[in-house]
Amino acid sequence: MSKIICSPGSYIQGNGEMGRLAEYYRLLGTKGAYLIVDRFIDQTYHDLITGSFEREHVLHSVHIFGGECSVQEIETHRSQLDGADVVIGIGGGKTLDTAKAVSFYARIPIIVVPTAASTDAPCSRLSVVYTPEGEFDFYLPLTSNPNMVVMDTQVIAKAPVRFLTAGIGDALATYYEASACLQSDAVTMAGGHITRAAIALAKLCRDVLLEDGFKAKLAVEQGVSTKAVENIVEANTYLSGIGFESSGLAAAHAIHNGLTVLPECHGKLHGEKVAFGTLVQMVLENRPLEEIRQIIDFCRSLGLPVSFQDLGIDQVGDERLMEAANASCAKNDTMGNMPFAVEPEDVLAAMKTADRLGRA
Ligand SMILES: [Zn+2]
Repeated sequence: MSKIICSPGSYIQGNGEMGRLAEYYRLLGTKGAYLIVDRFIDQTYHDLITGSFEREHVLHSVHIFGGECSVQEIETHRSQLDGADVVIGIGGGKTLDTAKAVSFYARIPIIVVPTAASTDAPCSRLSVVYTPEGEFDFYLPLTSNPNMVVMDTQVIAKAPVRFLTAGIGDALATYYEASACLQSDAVTMAGGHITRAAIALAKLCRDVLLEDGFKAKLAVEQGVSTKAVENIVEANTYLSGIGFESSGLAAAHAIHNGLTVLPECHGKLHGEKVAFGTLVQMVLENRPLEEIRQIIDFCRSLGLPVSFQDLGIDQVGDERLMEAANASCAKNDTMGNMPFAVEPEDVLAAMKTADRLGRA
């Protein structure tokens, strides 16, 4: 079977990129841009976002994201396109996933503009669709990666630090899930087997996180961008984005998806749950204690959850933890990419062990 690596057409990162969107739009379209923007981002950056379109006399319309990347939300935007020939998604992961889904169904190009480095979703040819209530619904595989991903580091450095650390949690899983997929010779989200290039990016991703993660957190707490922040933005978004998509997902993300059945942790961000899922995967694999402790210490330094208490599920009880474990082993999820069989009982045991290690 084929080996496949895929990536966005262009990845652009720098200070002030948000003020150049009309230039980038012009490379892709002529009839008008359909912007889907987070409400808070529109309130904060409306003039910066629309400024370049007005200066360059480019037709554009701004639409506020409804809050959940659901089938209903995607349909609403699709029905309002009104001749626009490029979709531009500006905001958090769910806004971007909605914009990608709209561009996929309407068969028009997309520019993805994350306002935080909080997940590795932006670069991928994948949207994660949730129910209107916020539970995982299904993965929507798209036919191509975004035409452009534009990261304005000035905007990202001003986002809450918790978004950056959650992005680090999401990116932390990349290398461990890639290693599992390499061992099991899994077929990745890209639709083929793993390339050497994708594995190299996943390794680099982990190295950059461990080297620069804590330094970047300190900078963003002050609202400033440094070289460490730039490196982490690239690791969270590009390295982890190409990495997870072309080197595969395994237990860490399956456990994240399992945790979404517990309303107690709905307040936790994707990457925060994935960070704990990574610890659980390491326990499932019975990795050396020293290696697990290194990752626990790293997560603690960033304020990422390492225990049930951190996740808000310390009062949940075994029966409902088992529901999460069952959900993580669902047939359409990625637990099957582990190099050995994993039963829900194994997941529960690993979750409880990871919790104890994290508390120790
Ligand atoms: Zn993720």
